[in-house]
Amino acid sequence: MERVIGIDLGTTNSCVAVMENGAPTVIPNRGGYKTTPSMVAITEAGKKLVGHIAKRQAITNAENTVFAAKRLIGRKFTSPQVKNAIATSAYRIVEGPHADARIQLRGKTFSVPEISAMILQEMRVIAEDYLGGPVAKAVVTVPAYFNDNQRQATKDAGAIAGLDVIRIINEPTAAALAYGFGKDIEKTVAVYDLGGGTFDISILEIGAHGVFRVIATAGDTFLGGEDFDARIIDWLVEGFQSEHGIDLRQDRMALQRLKDAAEKAKCELSSTRETEVNLPFIISSGRNEALHLQRVISRETLEQLCEDLVDRTVDICRQTLQDAQLGKEDIEEIVLVGGMTRMPRVVESVAEFFGRDPCKGVHPDEVVALGAAIQGAALLDTKHEMVLLDVTPHTLGILTAGGTFRGLIPQNTTVPTSRSETFTTSRDNQTAVKILVMQGEHEKGEQNELLGEFVLTDLRKATKGQVEIEVTFEINADGIVSVNAKDLETGRQQAIQVTATSGLTQQELKQMIDSSQGEMLERRASEEEEGTKQEAQRLIAEIDKLFPQVEQIVASSDFGRDATEKARGILQKARAAVSKGDHAAIKEHMEALGRTARMFRGVVQKTS
Ligand code: AMP
Repeated sequence: MERVIGIDLGTTNSCVAVMENGAPTVIPNRGGYKTTPSMVAITEAGKKLVGHIAKRQAITNAENTVFAAKRLIGRKFTSPQVKNAIATSAYRIVEGPHADARIQLRGKTFSVPEISAMILQEMRVIAEDYLGGPVAKAVVTVPAYFNDNQRQATKDAGAIAGLDVIRIINEPTAAALAYGFGKDIEKTVAVYDLGGGTFDISILEIGAHGVFRVIATAGDTFLGGEDFDARIIDWLVEGFQSEHGIDLRQDRMALQRLKDAAEKAKCELSSTRETEVNLPFIISSGRNEALHLQRVISRETLEQLCEDLVDRTVDICRQTLQDAQLGKEDIEEIVLVGGMTRMPRVVESVAEFFGRDPCKGVHPDEVVALGAAIQGAALLDTKHEMVLLDVTPHTLGILTAGGTFRGLIPQNTTVPTSRSETFTTSRDNQTAVKILVMQGEHEKGEQNELLGEFVLTDLRKATKGQVEIEVTFEINADGIVSVNAKDLETGRQQAIQVTATSGLTQQELKQMIDSSQGEMLERRASEEEEGTKQEAQRLIAEIDKLFPQVEQIVASSDFGRDATEKARGILQKARAAVSKGDHAAIKEHMEALGRTARMFRGVVQKTS
């Protein structure tokens, strides 16, 4: 049966879910955890680690361990957000060939989609192990406020992971789907989503017959738990500096330990009023004396350090209500999503602003993946009654003469949507027109996100203004932009490729897909080999254990002695193959080992 999984590709943690017997279910990873850290590392031996295993070694391998890659995806190297990430990350972020940000690990440069692909691939493997078969299709979620470059890059990551991403959906929308699933309700709902790296707010109308209509959405793709952690780190670093005159930021290992401790303290302060940060031997003094960091932090201090961050989320909520042309009293339910909504001050601020307590029935870490699984199943099964009407979070437009931005598709327009615009030549015999496509809300073009540019070429030579080209801008249900052009007189179509200003070329993408597929095959083959080896070892141990009993039982018969001799030979050969790690030979002996074990079991059972 064709399966589609829902993946919440989070900044801090990722989660995968699937529809089972009509209900969305989160799939636990091999360790039994329902979420997996979005962390990737390369060990000294060149081994790739993903998830908990990457997190566990982060302190000792800080420079080669990537966290929060989602903050970099689809971004230009020169963006303020990337600068911020460079200052706070122990791993190296370098400029890529297309002005994008890339990550250097052990001398090799990775694009951000490649890193995200490793996480997606891990989620795919978790699902395949659980479902017992291959999974090729997925619905992946992104923050509602992601622009086209970030969505496109996430889709690329899916392709590199060998997944056909049948739909990209917005995280708050997915949360609303999971909240409303199976309930016969008609309600206006606000989804407040504060995760590790991003903040999103969406206001939706859940209508009869499974219609989910987003009215407005807004957010900040650089506001999340990481910023709260950074405030605690700053506080600890400054305190240490004034006491010892040493800047801990200069030491990558100390920085990684501080990061871990800050996050831990922040989480603890959600349930206790005070906690101690204790980092022995954090650094050596100038006189080679070991220095320790030990400081008590209270919930009150944390709230003071982060007050403006929480206020920023509330300001965005206010703006979104205005955009939706609704009052606070129109919101009938507030759904909290993301790990940061466990912080009591966050819940209080949301409750104070909306004038009602948020809903308690959804799991903040799992609800997004569950919604993605619901959407995935609905896309596969056309009989499924569910309609999802989302909006574009940013205005799509073009740069006009003088550097002014002209919006064509306004923000909060329901997608999919398209808009046509006619362009003419401004010079006689002009054969090409260059158009810059942008997303954003600023009047000045330079302050918006440049999605790419395209050039209409081979225009007919004519007097200026006579050649009319109709350009159609389209935003699909994934929120991804495409452009098409038509010469109105000749009807000739031009397929326009908007060259992304950041991200990967088609050729690079293909290479990455091929190499990742190769790695996946290798991984599966090595897992299979490991499984066979373990099974061989188990059978050898079982036969060894039964041997004395069997020998005793069959001692009186020649036939029995022959059989035990033969078994001894099989054991010897199988043992040699296992100790040499010769997989072909192990496989060859598996059948004989199985047969011997069955025979031994039979003999013992018969006489007991
Ligand atoms: P998400 O992206 O939804 O997985 O959210 C992860 C963020 O939630 C990280 O910044 C975590 O540190 C934060 N978080 C998780 N649990 C708690 C907690 N109990 N209190 C405060 N923040 C938390």
